[in-house]
Amino acid sequence: MSRWAVVGGGLLGMTLAHRLARAGQAVTLFDAAERLGGLASAWNLNGVVWDRHYHVTLLSDAHLRALWAELGIESELRWTETRTGFYSGGRLHSMSNALEFLRFPPLGLIDKLRLAATILHASRVKDPAPLEEILVSDWLRRWSGERTFERIWLPLLKAKLGERYQQTSAAFLWATIARMYAARRTGLKKEMFGYVRGGYARVLDRFSETLAGEGVEIRTGHAVERIENGAVDGEAFDQVVATMPAPVAARVCQGLTDDEMARLRGVQYLGIVCPSLLLRKPLTGFYVTNITDPGIPFTAIIEMSTLVDRAELGGHVLVYLPKYVAPDDPIFSLSDDEIRETFLAALERMVPAFDRADLLAFRVSRVKHVFTLPTLHYSRTLPPMTTSVPGLHLVNTAHIVNGTLNVNETIQLANRAAERLLR
Ligand SMILES: Cc1cc2nc3c(=O)[nH]c(=O)nc-3n(C[C@H](O)[C@H](O)[C@H](O)COP(=O)(O)OP(=O)(O)OC[C@H]3O[C@@H](n4cnc5c(N)ncnc54)[C@H](O)[C@@H]3O)c2cc1C
Repeated sequence: MSRWAVVGGGLLGMTLAHRLARAGQAVTLFDAAERLGGLASAWNLNGVVWDRHYHVTLLSDAHLRALWAELGIESELRWTETRTGFYSGGRLHSMSNALEFLRFPPLGLIDKLRLAATILHASRVKDPAPLEEILVSDWLRRWSGERTFERIWLPLLKAKLGERYQQTSAAFLWATIARMYAARRTGLKKEMFGYVRGGYARVLDRFSETLAGEGVEIRTGHAVERIENGAVDGEAFDQVVATMPAPVAARVCQGLTDDEMARLRGVQYLGIVCPSLLLRKPLTGFYVTNITDPGIPFTAIIEMSTLVDRAELGGHVLVYLPKYVAPDDPIFSLSDDEIRETFLAALERMVPAFDRADLLAFRVSRVKHVFTLPTLHYSRTLPPMTTSVPGLHLVNTAHIVNGTLNVNETIQLANRAAERLLR
């Protein structure tokens, strides 16, 4: 039996700790926060405890569902059919089925056909490796034409990636479309999304109990400063796995080669500013409203209570207004009040029925390193999982190649990494 330290107690570190402990290893799990869960953790919004960032599960999330079954909570998944909206040309449009797509006013018939052909083509690509070699903007212009690119794709890319879209490869689009198709594969092309009753608070409580029962020593509230020669802040281990974002790993892990450091520092991240709003009344009726109009300060509207039973939310409506941004974006220096004012003013323009008197809570989450940008030649520039330092391993979100960031991918990555580490 070896002594393992897993640094970072998000779902990646938790799943790794679970797999290692089940294989009979002695595991200590460190996390800087007071509770495990990282990006998936919950918080309190005027007495309503729900995820700090919106989370949905797809019917096709097989790795996630298998783990939830191990934790005994798979039967508590609830599934709902949701609708998708588009805010374009100053109006909200429903875009939940083929008929609505054909009626979508901002595009002419030719544009629509080119858009549909592009999505269909991307969904049929089996090997995404060649897409890593071409910029997403070049690829979309080629398949959709300049006009459709300018009207639809460019605003969507800018909303999701900011100006970083100019460095992003076409593999990003491939992965996004693959997940979108997975959501619709079952149930007559309807969009079925799920959540566990009680939200991620419930999942994480159960997961933490399971880890403790497996003998994992959980050290929360411990921000690791130094990993050196198998020691975590001076405490010796046989093996150390660092799961925190690449720039944090670069700062904390000592003794890496120049090439390993350059690879860690080369990973580009997007962060998020994500207000949660608790409201008295429904807002749009769509789970997600995509936005193509410039000047709206957030990426999308996520109306969580179109999916989650309002009884879970104290009878209220829960909305997220996420804005994905580069880690050095000036928005990170804005106060909660400044964000609140800008975001609410935009919401009033978009949804005239929205009334500030119905707003019960507004709380802002800020995280600088959320997901890694699939830049050109991404998989060739990745940091290694097993480093040149004996017993030091790096496994993090950056190792999700040709996938979008979601819990299913995170668990799949942890399962694969654990198998490899135990070999
Ligand atoms: C806005 C948003 C929406 C999302 N929507 C969905 C969705 O709908 N469906 C879905 O499946 N997934 C979704 N996800 C993705 C999901 O949250 C992630 O896949 C998952 O949480 C990643 O887990 P992780 O452990 O890799 O990273 P993290 O959760 O970031 O965990 C890293 C951990 O490392 C800790 N740490 C960092 N530095 C140190 C240090 N020095 N010492 C000790 N600990 C440290 C942090 O405290 C953190 O707990 C969403 C994420 C966000 C942000």
